[in-house]
Amino acid sequence: MSLFQTVTLACPSCATPVEFELVASVNADRRPDLREAILDGSFQRETCPSCGTRFRAEPQFAYLELGRHLYIAVWPLDRRVDWRACVASSQAAFDLAYGEQAGVAARELAEGVALRTVFGWPALREKLLASQAGIDDTTLELAKLAVLRRLGRAPLPGRLELRLVAPPGATLRLAWVDARSGRAEQAVDADAGLIAQIEADAPAWQALRDELGSSPLVDFQRDLLGRGATSRGGA
Ligand SMILES: [Zn+2]
Repeated sequence: MSLFQTVTLACPSCATPVEFELVASVNADRRPDLREAILDGSFQRETCPSCGTRFRAEPQFAYLELGRHLYIAVWPLDRRVDWRACVASSQAAFDLAYGEQAGVAARELAEGVALRTVFGWPALREKLLASQAGIDDTTLELAKLAVLRRLGRAPLPGRLELRLVAPPGATLRLAWVDARSGRAEQAVDADAGLIAQIEADAPAWQALRDELGSSPLVDFQRDLLGRGATSRGGA
């Protein structure tokens, strides 16, 4: 079941109240249209009836697509600073529904599913794109690290995130994305063969792979993004 709840949010331009149907849970096996709406950026986006501004509610729901072995706990960007607490809460919810504390039938249904946690729309969209392309999400993070090593530079942490932004073909389409607006500000393309190279060279990457995989928040920016959000608060 995909569960919705009506919430009123103020338009960021003119403060007119706008009604949103927000989800608590998306079951994309039954509602593939919701998966498509997440991919095309229309999901949970509304138009202000007064001024015409299009804006989007930050996500907070569980995304389930057991057919693709996906259970993604999605959190709003502002919670990134508490990522450890969010991960713990997501883990508890997952364990209850499909993990250690679930019944046999639910556990069997979710066989091969590993919990993932993300913050904001671009991170969720990236997980769906990677899964669709058959790319292991940990390998994708390693590929980003390889790309950054080659470039030798990155924007200051906190605002922009390096994300997969299009289905990969011959090129792995990465970009520095504004996590709040979802806008890709700077493209960083890599050869799609990089994914296979990293998998073929497993021993060289094992330590980093273990570190990235040590949390359901599989994101090389895990600590950087939290720090960026903290420094804004003066810590
Ligand atoms: Zn407005």
